[in-house]
Amino acid sequence: TKESVKGFLRRNLFVLLTIAAVALGVMLGFALRPHNLTLRKIKYFAFPGELLMRMLQMLVLPLIISSLVTGISSLDSKASGKMGMRAVVYYMVTTLIAVFIGIVIVIVIKPGKGHRDSPVASSGTIEPVQAADAFLDLIRNMFPPNLVEACFKQYKTVYKKTIYTKNVTITLNLTDSLNATEAETVVETIPVSGSSNGVNALGLVVFSMCFGLVIGSMKQQGQALRDFFDCLNEAIMRLVAIIIWYAPVGILFLIAGKIVEMKNLAEVGGQLGMYTVSVIVGLLIHGLFVLPLFYFLVTRKNPYTFIAGLLQALITALGTSSSSATLPITFRCLEENNHVDKRVTRFILPVGATINMDGTALYEAVAAIFIAQVNDMELNFGQILTISITATAASIGAAGIPQAGLVTMVIVLTSVGLPTEDITLIIAVDWFLDRLRTTTNVLGDSLGAGIVEHLSRQELQSQDVEVGNSVIEE
Ligand code: ASP
Repeated sequence: TKESVKGFLRRNLFVLLTIAAVALGVMLGFALRPHNLTLRKIKYFAFPGELLMRMLQMLVLPLIISSLVTGISSLDSKASGKMGMRAVVYYMVTTLIAVFIGIVIVIVIKPGKGHRDSPVASSGTIEPVQAADAFLDLIRNMFPPNLVEACFKQYKTVYKKTIYTKNVTITLNLTDSLNATEAETVVETIPVSGSSNGVNALGLVVFSMCFGLVIGSMKQQGQALRDFFDCLNEAIMRLVAIIIWYAPVGILFLIAGKIVEMKNLAEVGGQLGMYTVSVIVGLLIHGLFVLPLFYFLVTRKNPYTFIAGLLQALITALGTSSSSATLPITFRCLEENNHVDKRVTRFILPVGATINMDGTALYEAVAAIFIAQVNDMELNFGQILTISITATAASIGAAGIPQAGLVTMVIVLTSVGLPTEDITLIIAVDWFLDRLRTTTNVLGDSLGAGIVEHLSRQELQSQDVEVGNSVIEE
């Protein structure tokens, strides 16, 4: 038994370290809170966490590109087409279920009923509907005009208003609000760099997929490129294996830093408290019951064993609130712990991290209906349907970076005529909900990879026979 304890410790070293890091981080955070550190000191204190975030983000770009290109080019186009279809169906179905759960819960709990807790100055103006613009931006960003620029910028439609005064002309960027008359409003689509990293992941994903397909169809001629991206991918994964040693330290400080910095949570009562509870309940139902059930129904395997293998990725998601920064760790967990076929992870994970966000979709639906309740607005069936559709679109459009979902909320709110400035009502708790929904997002992507692998085992096997599985296995 001594040997088996040793074996257990060795096998689960990183998971144990990561769990210990979370526990230590929480304790350290609460121990430091009474000292009322200044923001500057908190920033210094949390520096090791910031470093982890930067290291992970550094790897994301080459990881997405190399894994998608090799993943897809190592399959024949029929196999990748089938696999892609399965993934898309899984993404859509689970996201819609997530939205549905969110809607049911927020309607049952009614966190926003009663009068507004905090009076937010409402201008009372209804903005021009811009859901269509945001929707077009989503599609626009799939086709970046400049690949290099797509690594750090994405496109966004803005309304500009030109004001003529005596001798100067001023052009203002209108951020979704101000009801300017059409005559003086100019619509432009400009490249912007996003909040923490403006990578246009969607554009890069679409390009890499097409590129991989083409290379795959080139047979022998494409071998050099296949080898190149395969080698690049392998090298990045080795870097991940090094960073993983540092991850527990980083996570410790990310969590401790946030706890020191956060406002007094005890004050979050009333409507906001009930809203937080609604989102949490929804995410728990979706993550702990619905998704595992899905996995079980398809694979007939124990979903919780699979989830246990993902623990480190889930904790990293909780610590970084970014599914794209977590991607390197998700890869490792799935490949090393759960032994998911690399051709599947390479194909499915980057796409999932970019477009499949169950947690975000659920949260967007809850938040929009909560804001409607606070405004005493009765939503009819059509409007609830609109919210489901736009919440799904908003989750696809949200980048896998911290609080991206809060930004894409605008699409959902404007689509049913809710005041966008009411986003301020939910900002106070968003950092917290962001972590939980990101964890749900990563969970959904990972279970999806397991499901797609199971469904695609025939194609994978026949491919093995064909190429002797030489490219991937070594
Ligand atoms: N932070 C989330 C993620 O990375 C996106 C969101 O804000 O909902 O998955």
